[in-house]
Amino acid sequence: MHDPKVLRTRHLARFQAEPALFVAPGRVNLIGEHTDYAEGFVMPAAIDFATLAAISPRTDGKVVIYAENYSEERTFDAAALPAKASKHWSDYPLGVLAILAGEGNKIPGFSLSLWGDVPLGSGLSSSAALEVTTALAVTSLMGVHYPGPVLARLCQRSENEFVGSSCGIMDQFISANGAEDHALLLDCRDLSFKLAPIPANVALVIANTMVQHAVTGGEYTSRRAEVEEACAVIARHRPEVRFLRDATPADLEKWGSEMTPNALKRARHVITENLRTVAAADALIRHDLVELGRLMAEAHKSYSHDFEGSCVEADAMVELAQDLPGLIGARLTGGGFGGCTINLVERSQAPAFAEALGARYAAKTGIKPQIHICHASGGAHRIE
Ligand code: ADP
Ligand code: MG
Repeated sequence: MHDPKVLRTRHLARFQAEPALFVAPGRVNLIGEHTDYAEGFVMPAAIDFATLAAISPRTDGKVVIYAENYSEERTFDAAALPAKASKHWSDYPLGVLAILAGEGNKIPGFSLSLWGDVPLGSGLSSSAALEVTTALAVTSLMGVHYPGPVLARLCQRSENEFVGSSCGIMDQFISANGAEDHALLLDCRDLSFKLAPIPANVALVIANTMVQHAVTGGEYTSRRAEVEEACAVIARHRPEVRFLRDATPADLEKWGSEMTPNALKRARHVITENLRTVAAADALIRHDLVELGRLMAEAHKSYSHDFEGSCVEADAMVELAQDLPGLIGARLTGGGFGGCTINLVERSQAPAFAEALGARYAAKTGIKPQIHICHASGGAHRIE
């Protein structure tokens, strides 16, 4: 991970001011895909990859933000911050400032250095890590404290309303509230959550397919529309169903014929995924790793066949892992159409697993993947 001491030294050299330091992790979702916006369940874990923020006050009324990853600085007036996104990395910190201002906070002048090692755009949520670390740094400078779940909601809003990406609450929530060596079962309806311990002998092996298929057909939007269409059909018969979270497999049996074939498949994924996610948390709490692995395999099948959110490369990465020694469960994680797979692997076997999987994937696809052996890390915090 990037060293906070190094960021402190660079911030001091750049801004001639001693910074306060903060960190917020990226995340990997163990199970529960495309359920968050249906007010359902997800079970992510925070990971070792994280984004650091160094912040110090300024007296000239400027907000100066430096991104180490891009070697680029942006300067704004604290009293006249941009109200709109500009398709630039600075949208993420500026979005957080806009939401904080909207909550009645006066944004002070400050210098902010950002530096992260969450792979960008790989489905490990570098954007949420950036938002949460920024929010923590700025609120701390202002002397304002928001509890983790509230901070997460503010960061989600900044991505929805300012950056313009219609993400659910999962990424920001786990970055703000993750717990070391635990996965977190989150109920996206009321943000209640339960921690599920990940045994010490289990490693999170994250395999990056190195592809992210452009979803130019507006796939994400069309999937959401299909999910909503299915929900509306069920709600005609059962008005208490507001989101697919409220629906059951029996509803699909009764009224699935009134849906378009695609809406039926998407709904079947979301409804069964909610059940699997709750069952997976129970399995983890019971230390039933066989059941957890089985649920992950089912989840991948459902994501790939019913939701049609996978791709050839991700299916290959999951398939090639199946008979490798030490595998507990494997599936595509994140928003889909590429990105990373999550493999739960016996820790002692993890290095050999990673090497063998990498070699198999390269031989099959001609693409050299990045494979990371991670553990579940704690949530965002100040570094003393
Ligand atoms: P993901 O969240 O899956 O990594 P996103 O597309 O949601 O992918 O977010 C990636 C974007 O977030 C980057 O293109 C960049 O604009 C911004 N970003 C993430 N981390 C950093 C960072 N450390 N410094 C500057 N910008 C970052
Ligand atoms: Mg993101």
